[in-house]
Amino acid sequence: MAILTKGPRGTQDVLPAQSYKWQYLEKKVMEIAGLYGFREIRVPTFEHTELFNRSVGDTTDVVQKEMYTFEDKGGRSITLRPEGTAGTLRSAIEHGLLGDALPVKAAYLLSAFRYEKPQAGRLREFHQFGVEMLGSPAAASDAEVISMVFHMFRELGIEAQLELNSIGCPTCRARYQKALHDHFAARREELCDTCKDRLERNPMRLLDCKSPICQQIGEGAPMMLDFLCEECTDHFTQVKARLDAMGIPYVINPKIVRGLDYYTKTVFEFVTDKIGAQSTICAGGRYDGLIEQLGGPSLPGIGFAMGLERILMTMEACGSPFPGQPECMAFIGSMGDAAGAKAAQLVTQLRDEGFWAECDTMGRSVKAQMKFANKLGARFSAIIGDSELEAGTVKLKKMDDGTVTEIRLNADPSEPDSLVQAIYASRLEDVAGALKDE
Ligand code: ATP
Ligand code: MG
Repeated sequence: MAILTKGPRGTQDVLPAQSYKWQYLEKKVMEIAGLYGFREIRVPTFEHTELFNRSVGDTTDVVQKEMYTFEDKGGRSITLRPEGTAGTLRSAIEHGLLGDALPVKAAYLLSAFRYEKPQAGRLREFHQFGVEMLGSPAAASDAEVISMVFHMFRELGIEAQLELNSIGCPTCRARYQKALHDHFAARREELCDTCKDRLERNPMRLLDCKSPICQQIGEGAPMMLDFLCEECTDHFTQVKARLDAMGIPYVINPKIVRGLDYYTKTVFEFVTDKIGAQSTICAGGRYDGLIEQLGGPSLPGIGFAMGLERILMTMEACGSPFPGQPECMAFIGSMGDAAGAKAAQLVTQLRDEGFWAECDTMGRSVKAQMKFANKLGARFSAIIGDSELEAGTVKLKKMDDGTVTEIRLNADPSEPDSLVQAIYASRLEDVAGALKDE
């Protein structure tokens, strides 16, 4: 039955041979976030549906079409999180974090769920790294989070372009929404059905519509940048000045409106030309009214999220290194029970030293054991049989050049064998050799 042997559409497995890449990426971004004072927050996979309706916004694609919503056995409406901001803010409000020293800086790694049409870089379960910086209204905080993404991309070897816009505040946006409404209303009959509905409720959403006809009508639409009030203009000017001062390149893209309702003022995206159509690898912005709207204090905030699947695709396409791929240090093969027990002792010593080491657990022939050692890519191998036990020595072979070192085996299991020292010595020689070559 295919339903048992094939995962649901839009999901992806990370297999053991690939997981080091995820681990590297996740560790790296969290570490860099730590340098900026962001500490990890972990929030639930599901929340009350109302939380997302309120924050993401009920005229957005995410809420209207993409949420995994169900009624739980207690009759509550529950939704698998489509993003991380709502849950993070809910948590910050619930636990009173916003009464303490500001700004609050939280970072998260999480899975998110959206019922979308799966394609390269677009999944139904995907993963995000994101941050929220709560409490600071100043352009300095916009610049700080943006510069942090730059820092991350530099260290990850990612090439991407920063695109920047401002979508104003509720005051200036009202004027803009009116102008936008008039622009689209002139061709109301041609709009897609969803947009006909959005036109009255939230005309800015029309700019985000993927339908070709709505996009075409959207060309030549008025731009928010031309409607910013004085305060929003000032803020945007300061953000740009800060970025300039930090030497961070950007382009202004007045078309960025973002697919979630909660944004105000600064919005930004990082776009790459390395991975095809789903090219936005990081997106974020300021959300000054959101905390209050969710029942918290009247405090501003700013954040972003990056799609980790797209980030990994970009790193592969950019030829970025992925350090930390696990290496099997040694395979200690054996023939017979007594030798098997000795091999198990040896791998235990190696593991205690922090090395990945393997012995036979399959009852294989010596030939098959060596084949397996090759498959593992073990750096060293040894085979213990009766004659080795009798002689109290075993030959340790370095797999890449065939060098052999004789190892002493101790009869007393409490005394370490010389295997660990031999491996350390050989590793030291490799390092010395590499230094000499440089
Ligand atoms: P898109 O325009 O690609 O649909 P979005 O505006 O819906 O993106 P956000 O809600 O801002 O995306 O999420 C932040 C980031 O999460 C995106 O820039 C992208 O990298 C990633 N992302 C969003 N939806 C998906 C998805 N379905 N599959 C994989 N990654 C996604
Ligand atoms: Mg989307």
